Amino acid sequence: MTATDSIFNRITIVGAGLIGSSVARAVRKYEVCETLALVDANEAIISEARDLELADEYYTDVAKSVDNSDLIMLAVPVGAMASVGAAIAGNLKAGAIISDVGSVKESVFKALDPLLPEGVHLIPGHPVAGTEQSGPSAGFATLFDDRWCIITPPEGADEAALEKLSALWKAFGSRVEIMTPQHHDLVLAITSHVPHLIAYNIVGTASDLEEVTRSEVIKYSAGGFRDFTRIAASDPTMWRDVFLNNKDAVLEMLGRFSEDLTALQRAIRWGDGDALFDLFTRTRGIRRRIIDAGQDDAAADFGRTHED
Ligand code: NAP
Repeated sequence: MTATDSIFNRITIVGAGLIGSSVARAVRKYEVCETLALVDANEAIISEARDLELADEYYTDVAKSVDNSDLIMLAVPVGAMASVGAAIAGNLKAGAIISDVGSVKESVFKALDPLLPEGVHLIPGHPVAGTEQSGPSAGFATLFDDRWCIITPPEGADEAALEKLSALWKAFGSRVEIMTPQHHDLVLAITSHVPHLIAYNIVGTASDLEEVTRSEVIKYSAGGFRDFTRIAASDPTMWRDVFLNNKDAVLEMLGRFSEDLTALQRAIRWGDGDALFDLFTRTRGIRRRIIDAGQDDAAADFGRTHED
């Protein structure tokens, strides 16, 4: 790779799945470093990444892969961050930036901070972009384009390191927002984590119905169920780790959700059509604001094409 205005000399991405491989593709597309190393503990995954020509160097040994890297981007499930931190701690170059893409921020910082040596900069982050797919073939370079990347620097973080990390995400087309890890975890609990839990739950309930009804659930899925199944197809390891690591914020938001659900239950029981109509009007407005903010497409049925 030859880049005239590289932000980094050498980058290592740990984890070659959906997000790691998308970061790798974006690194190459926007030429933000001279040398890109990609590492995954899984031999089959790294061989798939090699076939896709995602990087300059490929490793299955995490410790070796970070030699002389200026930026190490951890793109493994949240529950694997500590073991990766322990594996790389002894091989980090002074001044290296350690960041990540994990969907939970406070627990990742707490897991990594005690493991890393003095003289390196730990600055966690989270690109709020993804799909329900996994693995190196599922990634794409424009995944982060016009999406938010939330960076959660610890107090007193090195300004120059923060600048470089922000510049990287901006080069990928992302809009960067800085916040505390606690605030990140609370916001993402309601915008991402609880919606995933609801999807897992509704699809689980339907799959527990007896066989004959279950086939009708599939047959008539376009009634709304189908869109929940997309979310409920998300990676089980990743989402198990999200819920185990963002327990407090998820339980807090789930409490609020349950209260509101009970209020809806009452409105239906007592025939309070006004309450239902008012809520449904308000929620339609939220959808409009997401489209206006450029975070989704206005096309009907999520832009699915339909035969005439
Ligand atoms: P993924 O497609 O399953 O990729 C994760 C990769 O990391 C897998 O190849 C996995 O290998 C590998 N891995 C696991 N433990 C490892 C270890 N100790 N050392 C080296 N490699 C290891 O998952 P993903 O969707 O890219 O998610 C990665 C991170 O991005 C997670 O922290 C997630 O919270 C975050 N994130 C995801 C999304 C999304 O929509 N998916 C969006 C934003 C952020 P194995 O398969 O063999 O375990």
